[in-house]
Amino acid sequence: MPDRVSSLYAPSAGIAAVGAVVPDLVGVIRDRHDLSPLATAAVGRLVAGAVLFGASLKGKERISIQIAADGPIEGLFADAWLLDENTVGARGYARNPHVDLPLNARGKFDVAGAVGSGSLQITKTYEAGKPYMGIVALHSGEIAEDLAAYLVRSEQIPSAVALGVLANPEGVIAAGGILAEVLPGADERAVLELERRAQSLRPVTQLMSEGADSDGLVRALAGDLELREHRRLAVRFACLCSREKVEAALVGLGVDDLRQMARENDTTQASCEYCKRDYTFNADELLALGKSVS
Ligand SMILES: [Zn+2]
Repeated sequence: MPDRVSSLYAPSAGIAAVGAVVPDLVGVIRDRHDLSPLATAAVGRLVAGAVLFGASLKGKERISIQIAADGPIEGLFADAWLLDENTVGARGYARNPHVDLPLNARGKFDVAGAVGSGSLQITKTYEAGKPYMGIVALHSGEIAEDLAAYLVRSEQIPSAVALGVLANPEGVIAAGGILAEVLPGADERAVLELERRAQSLRPVTQLMSEGADSDGLVRALAGDLELREHRRLAVRFACLCSREKVEAALVGLGVDDLRQMARENDTTQASCEYCKRDYTFNADELLALGKSVS
């Protein structure tokens, strides 16, 4: 079953919901960044959240989510954008990919303990014009609750978010989530209906383990409500890096550092922090970059 994100809505109840099932995406990120099981859970939740938000993107828009916090994972990042009109690309990383803590009191990954306290920032960039940026204090550090709190506080949209990742030292077993919102113009009954359905929703990891796909997650929330399809997109790992961008970052080091690197090494490797791809530069190339700034 390929990774997918589905947007559906229930006009009669005034509720819209997005479901994402992304075990392959999270598995690729885990492998590239050598994430511990706990870091896999944290990054997996955040990137699933970026994909859920990304389901409504158009054209060259991009959504990025950054957590800056004081816990041992040292911060997290994920973003999503459209690769084409049918596909969402996404990536993510943790500053400390090897973070490890005992399971929490409920026997789950202690994501809140790894994240700590700090802030959650969401930036949406458009094809043209200034990006939109919202920032809120972290609510719990469990990520799903933080994203729901962001939507309520920063965008005044009553929402429910559930995210889940099942991972072990061998890999990712399940990953995905649901984002449900009250439709614009819906009344208080829709808010209560959404709360009631979100509270009775079974854990998304359980639903995915039983075979739920992205539509199935939404249906589990919607129950007997009649659903209409809005959009369904494939999801896959992608990165926006290029040799030109790495060159620009090297130029930013300054001519002295570039000359020193060229003297000390036959070849220098610079790796992309988002995807871990290595870009190799020989001494002549570094000196040429140095010339371009001097
Ligand atoms: Zn990259």
